[in-house]
Amino acid sequence: MESTYKKTGGCIVCGASEVTILDPPFSDSFTGYSELVSGDGVCEKCNVMFIDRNHTWKSWIKVGNETTFYKMKEMRQWLLAPPERPFSIYLTKGRKKIGWIPLLRLENYSQDNFIIGTDFLSVVMINRKEITIMDKLISTLREHKTSKNVLLSGEFPAIAWRKAIEEGWEEDIKNALGNKNNPQWEVMVHVAV
Ligand SMILES: [Zn+2]
Repeated sequence: MESTYKKTGGCIVCGASEVTILDPPFSDSFTGYSELVSGDGVCEKCNVMFIDRNHTWKSWIKVGNETTFYKMKEMRQWLLAPPERPFSIYLTKGRKKIGWIPLLRLENYSQDNFIIGTDFLSVVMINRKEITIMDKLISTLREHKTSKNVLLSGEFPAIAWRKAIEEGWEEDIKNALGNKNNPQWEVMVHVAV
C-alpha cells in the first residue's frame, strides 16, 4: 500500500487534528457514516482498526496501545474488574457491524463508571457496583437453568415460576424482571457463562 495518498489533516473517526491521514478504507457495506466527525481522512491509528478485521470480528479490550482480543464470555472478567490504566472495551455479538467507532473518541479513566462499545446496543454506561449485583443474580438464575433468552425477555415460563416458588427463589425472578430493558443487564447476560 505504498502508493496510498498521504496528507496532513483531521481524522473523521477519532477526531484527531493535524495528523497524517489516508483515504478512508471503508468497504461498500460500511454503515457507520453517521458516527463520523468532520475531517479530511482516516489517521493511521484508526486505519489499523479497519484493516485488522479482528477489531470487528472479536470482542476486545484496549489498554494504552495494547489491544487483546477475546470471545464475548471472556470479557466478563474485564467488566467486573477493569484495568487501572485508561482502557476501552468492545463487545460484539454479530461480528459484522463496526460498532467501535465511538470508542475511538472515548477513553475510560474510572474503574467504577465507564463506557463500553457494543454492536448490539451502541455505547453503554457501566456502573461497576450495579453490574456486580446483576452478575450475581444472573449466575444464580443460570444455575437454576434459566436461558439467556428468558433473562433478556423476562418471559419466565410458568414451570420456572412454580419451581422458584417451591424452592424459594421467586424473589430472584422478580429482581430479574426489574432489570429488564436495562442496557447493563443485557450486557451482563451476554457475557454470562
Ligand atoms: Zn483517527
